[in-house]
Amino acid sequence: MTRSMRCPPARWLPALMLGVYLLGPAPAAAELRVVATLPDLAALAAAVGGDDVEVTALAPPNQDPHYVDPRPNLILPLNRADLLIVNGLELEVGWLPPLQVAARNGRIQAGGSGYFDASAVVRRLEVPTGKIDRAMGDVHPGGNPHFLYDPRQARRVVAALAAHMGRLDPGNAADYARRAAAFDARLAALAGRQAARFGALSAAQRRVVTYHASLTYLFDWLDVEAVQTVEPRPGIPPTPAHTAQVLSTMKARDVRRVVQESFYPRKTSETLARLVDGAVVVLPGSTRFDEGEGYLTHMNDIAERLYDALAK
Ligand SMILES: [Zn+2]
Repeated sequence: MTRSMRCPPARWLPALMLGVYLLGPAPAAAELRVVATLPDLAALAAAVGGDDVEVTALAPPNQDPHYVDPRPNLILPLNRADLLIVNGLELEVGWLPPLQVAARNGRIQAGGSGYFDASAVVRRLEVPTGKIDRAMGDVHPGGNPHFLYDPRQARRVVAALAAHMGRLDPGNAADYARRAAAFDARLAALAGRQAARFGALSAAQRRVVTYHASLTYLFDWLDVEAVQTVEPRPGIPPTPAHTAQVLSTMKARDVRRVVQESFYPRKTSETLARLVDGAVVVLPGSTRFDEGEGYLTHMNDIAERLYDALAK
């Protein structure tokens, strides 16, 4: 250690004090601590919150959102969170509840002031009618939970999120509303532009098979018809009998594309694609939020990849 550091000359003091200030905790008013279960939701929160929020995503983008590993290191951000954003419709039911209990934070429990369920504000598809039993597979009783694949649904989430953040942090409410309005315009533009492109494809080009029933909202947006799933029922792995039936449907209706997210098994899909002289189209599951990707870029990427595969 040098002598000057032990006893700094008076003229250095302002610089040293500034250093201490920069190293110290952020001013309390600056940040709402937000935790989102999924990277897509984290990206939406960051778009609305800007520099008024600090956002953590619990699930990585390349993991099946039904089955996230509830690692203990996810407990601390939940313990400190002012706001927890969940997808809802039981998508996280297999892994989030024990983490919420372990977090010991009343704000983020269901019904708490800092609990935001995105599914409460979307237009739900595939809401089952009649009785649900286990033989139907992993069916979500409130409807299909994979609505973040449609930017029109994201617009609803963004508007509600801005209102919720504004209630938790009234001093910045105008900023949340302003950012949400600007982001909403960009979501609407993306939704309209890609829907128009897909609309120019033929009906045959817009027929596909998917692995899991997770792309329903994407196809609702882009007017793509999913004729069948490789899974016989949601969450149930392919069986030879069902695969044979999917193959005959693909042949009968001239379907040559099997579309799925990167985290689902590919073997059966590849076999089916080979037998109809088609191709498997692999889409990224969620926004690469931790790498700085935004939701708009992610959704545009998905639409571009799908369009290129269907237009061939
Ligand atoms: Zn699902």
